[in-house]
Amino acid sequence: MHVDHYIRNRSCWANRSFDRYRRRDFAAMIFTRHAVCDFHGGHREPADTLFSCRQRRRNVGNRAFRRSGMRARITGKGTINMQESVEKICILDGGLTRVEDGSIYSPGVSVGVPATLSCNAYLIRHKAKWLLWDTGTPDAFYAHPGGKIVADGMRAIVVRTIAAQFEMIGLSPDDVDIIMFSHAHYDHVGNSCLFRNAKWFVQQHEHEAMFGTQADSFGYLPEFYSAMRDNEVELLQGDCDLFDDGAIRLIHTPGLTPGHCSLFVRLPRTGPVILGGDVAHNCLDLQYRRVPSFSTGREASVASMRKIEELARKEGARIWINHDTMQSATLPHAPAWIY
Ligand SMILES: [Zn+2]
Repeated sequence: MHVDHYIRNRSCWANRSFDRYRRRDFAAMIFTRHAVCDFHGGHREPADTLFSCRQRRRNVGNRAFRRSGMRARITGKGTINMQESVEKICILDGGLTRVEDGSIYSPGVSVGVPATLSCNAYLIRHKAKWLLWDTGTPDAFYAHPGGKIVADGMRAIVVRTIAAQFEMIGLSPDDVDIIMFSHAHYDHVGNSCLFRNAKWFVQQHEHEAMFGTQADSFGYLPEFYSAMRDNEVELLQGDCDLFDDGAIRLIHTPGLTPGHCSLFVRLPRTGPVILGGDVAHNCLDLQYRRVPSFSTGREASVASMRKIEELARKEGARIWINHDTMQSATLPHAPAWIY
């Protein structure tokens, strides 16, 4: 088949203006008798088989995507890596923290200027399981309408309890199958005692810090999480793909605390998001690599910021910064679901 004949008979091609190089490349594709087929592991196949292999590779991905919401990622080596999405996520209002001097989170910035930090917990539905990421400020603080000083001048305020939000969406804390915390500060583990049936996935370093003799040196208040001793626990070291399907990945982002983590979640319509935890306390702190004065490791914190930004770039993910009040206000909260 001559190239010009092919072009005349395919309007989609005929309408394009081919320069000399495009024509030459196209001719090479048509007339090369054998070409390397990466779908079949790199062995040599006739040229027409090469096209059919490529088409077949696309079809495999499309069929799988239609059937189960999976996304087929085709790697450069021709292997197919199925990446599933979770069903949905609900952002729960986990209270507020107010401080008189915002520079404790952003050194050199907002010195002496009061700051208010949002706090969220995230309930995820995936493969018929409920997963909870963080549990917010203790519901008990709801009894203090003006808030309560917890530590270092931080005033914790609860306007909606986590228990009430579970009720609002028709669930019980007992329904939660898996629980994870970005880290063990009071505004993340505050309601851990509600989730008695959940299996707990935690970095070994974080677990050791929480239950070691120096817990207070990490800013931990064990009374808010001591009940977690009785939960079934799985200790992790480093990053972890929780379901081995690419839908939910625990990303180790140490620095603020030894076992601090962020969570990568692939949503079916919104696309991938990274729940940053406290890898940074607001978007500008992330951008300018500002590390809070109470971080246990400055260099590790900066490396972790870089790590999630690189992951976000690679995956095309958005980063949801838990304590960024302005960003949080743009996201729907319970009882809304995000798909
Ligand atoms: Zn926090």
